[in-house]
Amino acid sequence: MAKSLYESLGVSKNATQDEIKKAYRKLVREVHPDKNPGNEERFKEVQGAYDVLSDAEKRKQYDRVGSTNGRPAGFSPGGTTYDFTDFDLGDIFGGLFNRGGGGRQQQRQQRGQRGNDVEVEVHVAFEDALKGARVTIPVELELACHTCHGTGAAPGTAPITCPVCNGSGVVATSQGLFALQEPCPRCHGRGSIVETPCPTCKGSGRERRTKRYTVKIPAGVKDGTRIKLKGKGEAGYGGAPAGDLYVITRVEPSKLYERRGDDLIVTVPVPYTTAALGGKVEVPTPDGPVQLTIPQGTEDGKLLRLKGLGVPHLNGEGRGDVLARIKLKVPKKVNKKQREALEALQKAGA
Ligand SMILES: [Zn+2]
Ligand SMILES: [Zn+2]
Repeated sequence: MAKSLYESLGVSKNATQDEIKKAYRKLVREVHPDKNPGNEERFKEVQGAYDVLSDAEKRKQYDRVGSTNGRPAGFSPGGTTYDFTDFDLGDIFGGLFNRGGGGRQQQRQQRGQRGNDVEVEVHVAFEDALKGARVTIPVELELACHTCHGTGAAPGTAPITCPVCNGSGVVATSQGLFALQEPCPRCHGRGSIVETPCPTCKGSGRERRTKRYTVKIPAGVKDGTRIKLKGKGEAGYGGAPAGDLYVITRVEPSKLYERRGDDLIVTVPVPYTTAALGGKVEVPTPDGPVQLTIPQGTEDGKLLRLKGLGVPHLNGEGRGDVLARIKLKVPKKVNKKQREALEALQKAGA
């Protein structure tokens, strides 16, 4: 059965506000994480209980709902809905009422929990996305404390096996017919306790540091490509593996090319006479300018394909194409000779 908020503070249900305050002040000194590293859970519990019981209105609401039923929002005995939006339900009810279920699960995961994944963005020039590059990026991470190497114990000392649970992290409690396992109240499921906390990390075993990673950006990355660096994320808990680092590429747009998948579209101005008669024009590509044959009678806006000169495929061989988008150039002015030629052409019925 879940502890009531009154039990958390060690007071009776009929305690006066003054008694509640006194109990809280005494408790909070005892369980403060500065004095009691690794005991954050109990500290939070006391804080959460006091938060509700010290407020006459919240206390009244809590008393009406009762201490054993943890249905939080929308609980409506007798058709009355109680509004709990003025305090953090997740914190208070999640922490106190779900202890038999979800709460315990969380505790167990805490022990030997894998480190968090971390995401960082890296800006990549358009050219570098085509050719690949190496970039050095600073990443702020929570890592194992460099003083105690993650144990949380002061140098020269070591965490000891929890005497209450003998290192198992759980204790058996009996609830009538049921035998239940609960997270060990002494070590909070860790199985070990730190007697002399490390001065650097105050016993947490962890500290935030900035690491510089050199990342190989493969040719062909897009805007938003995720590159996974296994085990380069945050340190794991209790010897569990580290999380992964995800580098997300932000590719700068090109002034010249429009990227469509692994194809590059480039606009190529073509004199209208060349388009009518056919001919050759120069097209810029990532490999340098290439001569492109314009077939006779090419229309404005036509896409002509230059195979295999586009963006390298990220996962495999080969490259996309360059697509030359034909833009007909019509002269704004014509001289006398050109005018005569054009008029002759018009007469010929072109
Ligand atoms: Zn224990
Ligand atoms: Zn440390």
